[in-house]
Amino acid sequence: MTPPNGFAAELQPPRPDRWQCDVLVVGGGPAGASAAYWLASSGVDVLVVEKKHYPREKTCGDGLTPRSVHQLEQMGLADGLAPHHRYWGLRAHAYGRTIAMSWPDHPELGSYGYVITRADLDELVAARAEKAGAVLWQGVEAVAPLSAPGASATGSDPDPAHGGATLRRAGGAIVSDRARATVTEVRARYVIVADGSLSRFGRALGTRRNRHWPQGMGLRGYYRSPRSAEAYIDSFLDIRDAGGKVVPGYGWIFPLGDGRVNVGVGLLSTQGRWKDVNTTKLMEAFVAQAPSSWCLDPQTRCGAPTGGRLPMGLAVGPHVGPDCILAGDAAGAINPFNGEGIAYAYETGRLAAAVVSGALEAHDPRLLITYEQSLQDTYGLYYRVARAFIGVLSRPGLMRICVNSGMYSRSIMEWLLRIMGNYLRPDELGPAEAVYKAVAALARQIPER
Ligand SMILES: Cc1cc2nc3c(=O)[nH]c(=O)nc-3n(C[C@H](O)[C@H](O)[C@H](O)COP(=O)(O)OP(=O)(O)OC[C@H]3O[C@@H](n4cnc5c(N)ncnc54)[C@H](O)[C@@H]3O)c2cc1C
Repeated sequence: MTPPNGFAAELQPPRPDRWQCDVLVVGGGPAGASAAYWLASSGVDVLVVEKKHYPREKTCGDGLTPRSVHQLEQMGLADGLAPHHRYWGLRAHAYGRTIAMSWPDHPELGSYGYVITRADLDELVAARAEKAGAVLWQGVEAVAPLSAPGASATGSDPDPAHGGATLRRAGGAIVSDRARATVTEVRARYVIVADGSLSRFGRALGTRRNRHWPQGMGLRGYYRSPRSAEAYIDSFLDIRDAGGKVVPGYGWIFPLGDGRVNVGVGLLSTQGRWKDVNTTKLMEAFVAQAPSSWCLDPQTRCGAPTGGRLPMGLAVGPHVGPDCILAGDAAGAINPFNGEGIAYAYETGRLAAAVVSGALEAHDPRLLITYEQSLQDTYGLYYRVARAFIGVLSRPGLMRICVNSGMYSRSIMEWLLRIMGNYLRPDELGPAEAVYKAVAALARQIPER
């Protein structure tokens, strides 16, 4: 392993406005904080810049599945999560029917999730990374990438790259070391780009989204509700517009356990098929049509809803550059089957950290390219199947037929939950795994753009 600050000694002369580290992480959300935690835990000199201040809002459904909880517990955060609202499964609603399902059993993943605001969650994980040894600067934005002198586009240069970023401070920036308050530039061997779905920093490095692949979009708001302590999260698969027409999307009500629920609508589509759907109106219609027991109305609403995009299926790339790696939403890592992104941000942040640690240890930036293989090995086929599935489901007529038939069979819904939630067991071939295998064989044959 490169000794801490080993790189710092190589760049001469030292400048008071320049910070030097082995790894710069851009963004302190789930992907960035996880990458920083795993890097710092293995002794790497890592700086995270987060443009906002914790606790900060982030538009999200706030739902952690057992997959997210697994990653958080591996980062030592079981106790940090415990005071928040724990839940045990998913209730699917459609066409007047309801099926309540526990989380599928799985050899690695547990049986419960949490609903926790992102203000609380992201602060918790960033603090964990800092405790593990990462340097965290809040209120500091990475504005533009610095090119790596001598690094070729293919990463074939055997010398370590010296990229980094120029920085801009928001008022009242909090940096762990006040003496560094004048820093305007960071030089790093490697940069992990974890700046979320808009990924301006990633775009400046030349990343693009594959527009032929599905993208999601969602809107969420908070309501005070007497059902805030429900033991299940609720998902509505037949949401309708104000005229009562079923729209290719879904709605959710996630209980926060603090007197509030997180209410939202999401749309999944390919080729801009939802361009004409007004999500604000859809949200209003969903709230108006929700069962009255939730008490969702203008009086219980806590502020205006906010929306965001869900880049999915690893649609943003290239995932690796000569001295940088994308993780989380910046890489489009959201699961296209269900719009879940937090777990995949933790996982890709961790994968990125492992690859960067290896490259530092071997003094070989060419090893970064192994990240692409790790992504493909972990998600490649599964996401390909998901993209094909979404392509079919985003046609309103087909979605109606599939959901309507599924709601008559608990077994089918349980298989779907196992497949769509990524609970396929590696150790056993049950009905869901068999169905997935058959569909995957078909999906492999479908050419993709
Ligand atoms: C409406 C909606 C509902 C959702 N619901 C769920 C859900 O219930 N469960 C779930 O698992 N997923 C959900 N998701 C997806 C989930 O929010 C994302 O997948 C997840 O936040 C990705 O984490 P990230 O770290 O990649 O990006 P982010 O969480 O967006 O974090 C990026 C961070 O980088 C910072 N940043 C950006 N640019 C810079 C810069 N240049 N310099 C410094 N800092 C910068 C930002 O301030 C931010 O803190 C939802 C998404 C939406 C839009």
